[in-house]
Parts: sequence; C-alpha cells; structure tokens
Amino acid sequence: MKYSATDELKRHVLVVEDEEDIVRLIAFHLEKEGYRVTGTGSGREALELAYENPPDLVVLDIMLPEMDGLEVCRRLRAGKGTAKIPILILSAKKEELDRVLGLELGADDYMIKPFSVRELVARVRAMFRRFDRDNDDINSEADKPRMEEKVISLGDITLYPERHQVTVNGEQRTLTHKEFLLLELLMENAGKVLTRDLLLDKVWGYEVEVDTRTVDVHIRYLRQKIESDPAVPRYIETVRGVGYKFVKDQE
Ligand code: CA
Repeated sequence: MKYSATDELKRHVLVVEDEEDIVRLIAFHLEKEGYRVTGTGSGREALELAYENPPDLVVLDIMLPEMDGLEVCRRLRAGKGTAKIPILILSAKKEELDRVLGLELGADDYMIKPFSVRELVARVRAMFRRFDRDNDDINSEADKPRMEEKVISLGDITLYPERHQVTVNGEQRTLTHKEFLLLELLMENAGKVLTRDLLLDKVWGYEVEVDTRTVDVHIRYLRQKIESDPAVPRYIETVRGVGYKFVKDQE
C-alpha cells in the first residue's frame, strides 16, 4: 500500500481480523470510499498500533487467535487515547451477540458474519457521521452556552438529546448509542405503546439482518441501567405480544 501526504487527511480505519481474505475485501472497499486502512490479524498488534497511533475507527472480529476481540475491545475502551474510538464488532454467531452486549463493552455497532461489504461500508460511514455529530455537539457546547436545550424529564430519569446524556436521580448513566435511541423514542412517546417493529425500524433502520429479538435484548440492558429493579420495571413496561411503553405517570 503506497502512502502519500494526502493519506494523512484520510480517516484511518484499523481492521482486526485473522482471515486475510476478509481483511483484503474490507480494505479494498473502504479504500475505494476514501478511507485509509490498516489490517492486522493479531489482537495484540492491534492494541500496539492503536495505542501508538489511534485510528479513527476500528473494525474488530471477535474470533482471533490468542487475544480475542472482546478483550481487545475492553482494552481499547480502557485506554486513555483509545477509549472513544468507534468500534464495529464482527461476529460469526448470533449467540456471540448476547455476550458482546452483555459484557457492556461499549461497541458502537456490530455485524453478523457473513455480512455484505457494501453494508459494512454503509455502517462505517454512518458511524463517522454520528461521531462527527456528537463531537460537534460537544464543541458547540463549549463555544456558546445553550439557552434552550431540549430536555425530557420523567420521574427520576432525565434525557438530554443533544448531549446524548441520561441521568437517573441526577446520576449519569452510560448507554450505548442504540440504548440511547431506544430510550429517547420511548420517552418522547411516553404513555404510548411502541411495537417492536416500530422500534426496530426507527432505531436499527436499514440494518436488515437484525430481528425483533434484538429489541428485547437491548431493552433488557437498558432496564439494567435505568431501573432500580430491572425485574420489576417501573419505567419501561412490557406490553405482551406488542412491544414496550414508557410509563408516563410517575408518582
Ligand atoms: Ca477471525
């Protein structure tokens, strides 16, 4: 791969996957889109590369020899200069997905193998857009204080859509992007039942390979983060056979 001065300006994507064909395929398509790509098949090398020169985004396969992708993800999130890098997880099995989500690793998105490269490129692009938008929010916040920030407050839960923040009893909670979108949608429509299909459509949109079970999995983790007793939810109510509802009248 030739390296030129203009490459400095390109977004740098680190692809961590031990199947070389897949790395080549991803690199080919991302480079065509104007990204700079580095590939490695080793989790350890990925960490070294990332610590030394943090990439703008990481595509990370779970199944890797020696150190697996989950561990790599965990360490990236724990590293000072790497904590905020968007991570797209690749997973060979749907069952792994539960593990990924359950471990609260803070991956920003995931794809199940086999995936379409076109879809992967679209996801990467969407992740950069999101990342830019979130950073714009932070920057403009620093520039000028917002006079009228939109806030949704119900019971002990307060959601700041522009800041992408949620507090419960004044205490900040860390939600994944999807969890945040789910909660925002539910709170905006408090009192109304939202079907799984609608939630899927609004939160996941084009990501066609996810099924309605994904909604349930995310609701479960969301409850663990905002409900004092997730087994007896006070806020997010299950409407059997239909979907979910944010309970409007909080005493
Ligand atoms: Ca692999």
